[in-house]
Amino acid sequence: MNSKQYNYDYVIIGSGFGGSVSALRLSEKGYRVLVIEKGKWFRGEDFPKTNWDLKKWLWLPSFKMFGILKMTVFRHATIISGVGVGGGSLVYANTLPIPKSEFFNSGNWKGLVDWEKELNPHYAVAEKMLGATKNPKFYDADIALQKVAQQMGRSNEFEAPKVSVFFGKSDVKVKDPFFNGEGPERMGCNFCGQCMTGCPNNAKNSLDKNYLYLAQKKGTKVIAEKLVTSIKPLDDTNLNFGYTVDFKNSTSYFKKGIGSVKTKGVIFSGGVLGTVRLLLNMKAKKNLPNLSDEVGNHIRTNNENLSLITTRDKNIDFSKGIAIGSIFSPDDNGHVEAVRYGAGSNFWKILIIPMVFGKNVGIRIFRLLKELFFHPTVWIGNYFRKDYAKRTVILLFMQHLDSTIKLKRGWFNLSSKLSSGLKPTPFIPMAKTLADKVAKEINGNAFMMSTDILLGSPSTAHILGGSVIGKDISNGVIDADQKVFGYDNMYVCDGSAVSANPGVNPSLTITAMTERVMSKIPEK
Ligand SMILES: Cc1cc2nc3c(=O)[nH]c(=O)nc-3n(C[C@H](O)[C@H](O)[C@H](O)COP(=O)(O)OP(=O)(O)OC[C@H]3O[C@@H](n4cnc5c(N)ncnc54)[C@H](O)[C@@H]3O)c2cc1C
Ligand code: SF4
Repeated sequence: MNSKQYNYDYVIIGSGFGGSVSALRLSEKGYRVLVIEKGKWFRGEDFPKTNWDLKKWLWLPSFKMFGILKMTVFRHATIISGVGVGGGSLVYANTLPIPKSEFFNSGNWKGLVDWEKELNPHYAVAEKMLGATKNPKFYDADIALQKVAQQMGRSNEFEAPKVSVFFGKSDVKVKDPFFNGEGPERMGCNFCGQCMTGCPNNAKNSLDKNYLYLAQKKGTKVIAEKLVTSIKPLDDTNLNFGYTVDFKNSTSYFKKGIGSVKTKGVIFSGGVLGTVRLLLNMKAKKNLPNLSDEVGNHIRTNNENLSLITTRDKNIDFSKGIAIGSIFSPDDNGHVEAVRYGAGSNFWKILIIPMVFGKNVGIRIFRLLKELFFHPTVWIGNYFRKDYAKRTVILLFMQHLDSTIKLKRGWFNLSSKLSSGLKPTPFIPMAKTLADKVAKEINGNAFMMSTDILLGSPSTAHILGGSVIGKDISNGVIDADQKVFGYDNMYVCDGSAVSANPGVNPSLTITAMTERVMSKIPEK
């Protein structure tokens, strides 16, 4: 086949961090690129004002909800992820840390490359492209975290994170400040705390304002509201011949909108849930039979614990600031962040129950009943608070220590299984110590997600792995350059390729890893 017989040189499935970086770099190299995204396009005015506007906030297509946040409950983890043009960058909390050295020397990719050295220059490019800047202002939630860092003798570790936010004037529209005027017009941040329901002020550097915007200028075509359903080689005997990619409408029941394109190459960038689901389906249906048996294995939750601490003090407003305003390492393995939602975004209060630990569900239920008996107003009162977001600090605790689960195809959907290694747990002693200290500091009470306590499995916004890097097809899905074993011109560039627990927020790492892969693909 010659190149004119293909519709595109590369089809990219998903428009999150991996997909957007791939789109820009491939189109700069002269390739014809198509990005297919199942979610919608969003402008500042399209985002929900609070997370009670479930239709605009949640992605639940069966209920005609086409928002930016998807929640998927598995037996061994509850996963929250982003949907829409720009993927997780629409809903994320903007924080862009570089992991500690342990990340580069652990997990499935250990020893294959000197990852820290090799990724270092790509982290620098990623920071520049995403506009990483130190948060310039602390508010009440950050000050509470700072006091806890002091009490723990870790003041030196407390700092403002680098975030992908434009801190210009919040009431003046200016020409693109990041790419010599090549990017879109922008407004500065007004510290409204709404980053995780979508920035209404055009101040968050989401991917539609950098990588994807510039990629479109270079010729990348983006089609939204289409779900990729199938990938198949054009010729089973010559894998260098390219692929057909099939898709259908993702936001309409009645019009199926089925379509298909021929492409020389494919980049899987659907995030862990999107990519792993597609790869498992394609392997089972024998569309891509050469795929490694490791698809779906080595999925990591970043060893997280989310605790939500609500103050009894009516005069405090923790909702002011950017979504994550401060961070510190309470010990050698952990990393904690003070997180907030904007005023009025009170949805989470209906999914939480008091923080209790215990080695089995019986003990935890007993402790919950004790809480209910001795402090009924604290627990029940929380569900009736109209100013819940204003009164709540969310602590996001993460660790780089390893623990993994697997995803498998079930009867109707994916299901989770435990792996042979450590089991991810929400009951991390350091997370409880931190929650107790912050609760004391702000005169409050600590809560956790009910699924975490009742199922004994963690909630995570940072699901990673499932198509990990390996030395060969027997221990990985992709090689060290993220090329899929068994196929030509096929790559995985998203969180599913991250092959160890970073123990910090992963988007900068996904961006840097994808920059590295793209730097190795030759000009057309
Ligand atoms: C509330 C929240 C806060 C977060 N805060 C931070 C933070 O502060 N810092 C940080 O580093 N990370 C944060 N994250 C995590 C971050 O969003 C993800 O790690 C990151 O977006 C993953 O990037 P990705 O390239 O793997 O794909 P994603 O960004 O997840 O994008 C994948 C895209 O592919 C689309 N897709 C999937 N399957 C298909 C298909 N079959 N066909 C078409 N399209 C498909 C999806 O709709 C999605 O838009 C946060 C996440 C959440 C949910
Ligand atoms: S704090 Fe408000 S204005 Fe600033 S980036 Fe977040 S949502 Fe946008």
